[in-house]
Amino acid sequence: MKNWPIGVFASIDAGLGVQLDIVHELQIPTIHLHAPSKENRTPEKAKLFLEKLASYGITISCVFGGFEGESYADIPTVAETVGLVPETTREKRSQEMKEIADFAKLLGCSVVGLHVGFVPHDTTSDDYADVLRVTQEICDHCHANGQSLHLETGQETVEALIEFLQKVDRKNLHVNFDPANMILYGTGEPLEALEKLGTHVRSIHCKDATWSKNPGVDWGAEVPLGAGDVNIEAYLRLLKKIGYTGPLTIEREIPQEPKRQKEEIGQAVALLQRLKETIC
Ligand code: MG
Repeated sequence: MKNWPIGVFASIDAGLGVQLDIVHELQIPTIHLHAPSKENRTPEKAKLFLEKLASYGITISCVFGGFEGESYADIPTVAETVGLVPETTREKRSQEMKEIADFAKLLGCSVVGLHVGFVPHDTTSDDYADVLRVTQEICDHCHANGQSLHLETGQETVEALIEFLQKVDRKNLHVNFDPANMILYGTGEPLEALEKLGTHVRSIHCKDATWSKNPGVDWGAEVPLGAGDVNIEAYLRLLKKIGYTGPLTIEREIPQEPKRQKEEIGQAVALLQRLKETIC
């Protein structure tokens, strides 16, 4: 496969991302798939889904886990509801994440992605140790499936993320880098973070955002690719520098406006193709 195929975040039923017919219409060859709900994670559904993908000529490069009860309404709500960090749902969700990895295996996908959530700041706390434990267990489950686990960036600083990766200490744990999240959550300058993460980064999102007036307190704003503070050309140049050759997976989360979402993803494809020609 040539370097940097264009991708997009997509979904089958629930969750983030655009529907497959839109991916097909925009002639995008690869997707990150938001894992479908439990009733659709069966061998029969996987077979049907793979047939549809094959007819469209689309491949899946990562299956992302998501859970019922997660809300991205504002930063405190994310901290309370997203990923493996909320204690009351931790065990159940880590079990579900393993089921999602098994479903990804049925789809022939060797990468699963996850927002762990706001990892506790106190690295000596029991809570931190327990988040490490469940992450290790998921990594080991993925390893047995021949898969890697990619953590989505954004909810912690790059230093905290690197420390977490080191403490989990599993060879199949890597990073899905999302530059816009670092701006949205106010966790640091994304390109500096990308350079520090280097080869930890094994998959990426192409998403853009503008900083809020109170970074880390209020959300920044997600905007069309190229209209925000990431600097997409510099982002791609840096990806080249760190040796990243995988898909450029566009993420644009405005499901409430499907017409605009499709237009903006189309514009993002054109932008990335133009930049690829300049940079490659
Ligand atoms: Mg993302």
